[in-house]
Amino acid sequence: MDTHNRGLGYSSKYPFIQFRNSPSLKASHSKSEWQKYLEEENVWGAFGCHPHNAADYNDSVEEALKLALSHPKVRALGEIGLDYSERNKCRKEVQHEVFRRQLKIAYENRQSLIIHCRDANEDCMKILQELLPEDYTFHLHCFTENWKWAQKWLEAFPNVYIGITNLVTYGSAKPTHEVAKSIPLNHLLLETDAPYFLPRKISKKIKWSHPGMAIYVAAQIAALRNITLEEVLDWTYKNTRKMYKI
Ligand SMILES: [Zn+2]
Repeated sequence: MDTHNRGLGYSSKYPFIQFRNSPSLKASHSKSEWQKYLEEENVWGAFGCHPHNAADYNDSVEEALKLALSHPKVRALGEIGLDYSERNKCRKEVQHEVFRRQLKIAYENRQSLIIHCRDANEDCMKILQELLPEDYTFHLHCFTENWKWAQKWLEAFPNVYIGITNLVTYGSAKPTHEVAKSIPLNHLLLETDAPYFLPRKISKKIKWSHPGMAIYVAAQIAALRNITLEEVLDWTYKNTRKMYKI
């Protein structure tokens, strides 16, 4: 079950959760675009203002966000968080403020969270610890840090779920291999982060990934741990249902 993609319109053939970020929040003023996707079977949504778009966050976006979160098939607030990578031009102070504002909304509604944390582990963990109780449930998505950091997250938040993408299928992704081998299976989620992260063995003619490719993540994790594919799928199916209350 793919727990994180950007909604390419794939249907119930591939059960998945469709997560959208801030461009869709703007679209929430004209609801029909995203509501159409959520009418599909086995498709759920999440809304939040991504740290790349933090400068666009304002009171009216916040109102639209609250409205979108009230839809019965929207199951989480996210992805939200901090991104200190070069790709993000938004100032840290602005990211912090927008992250905090959204965390308060999540906590008020006891809403599950999807956290995006890129090159910002310390600050991200500090803010989460400040605003949420340690038993809060969230999905730390597209985890690319090493096992040491995964352990720190598991210690700080015992109900955290860690999402692994098809990055794990690449020989060079050693830190992700370590995490895939060591993470307790009851904390693991599969994600494609579609349309990115194509599995290594896929033909180069294919340019974009899709939710059906979550199976490659599962197969690689099973191979690394020397367990069956079924075991990985059973755990991640259970974890997905728990995390997203589906
Ligand atoms: Zn992300």
